[in-house]
Amino acid sequence: MIRQTPVLRVCISCRKTYDRKNLIKITKDHKQGIMFQKGMGRSAYICKSKKCCSDSKIKKKLQKALKTSLEPEFIDIFEKEITSYNDHPNKGI
Ligand SMILES: [Zn+2]
Repeated sequence: MIRQTPVLRVCISCRKTYDRKNLIKITKDHKQGIMFQKGMGRSAYICKSKKCCSDSKIKKKLQKALKTSLEPEFIDIFEKEITSYNDHPNKGI
C-alpha cells in the first residue's frame, strides 16, 4: 500500500506544522477577493484548534500573511466558516 506524503503547512497563529487537510486555507484570490479553501493567490493557513480560531490577533496575522487589509465583515465570515468546519469535519477538503 502506498501512502501519500502529507502536504505540510504552517498555521499562522501557533506556527506549528500540520497536514494540509487539518488546516483552513484562506486565499486572497486575484479576482474574487478573500476565499476559504479555494481560490488562486496568496494563501495563509490556520489550524482548527480553538486557540487559533479564537485568536484575537488572527485578523492582524492574516493581514500580514496575505499582505492585504481585511474588511471588518471578514471576521464575521471567518467565524462562521470556522464554526461550519467544526460542525462538518469532513466537508469540502
Ligand atoms: Zn494554530
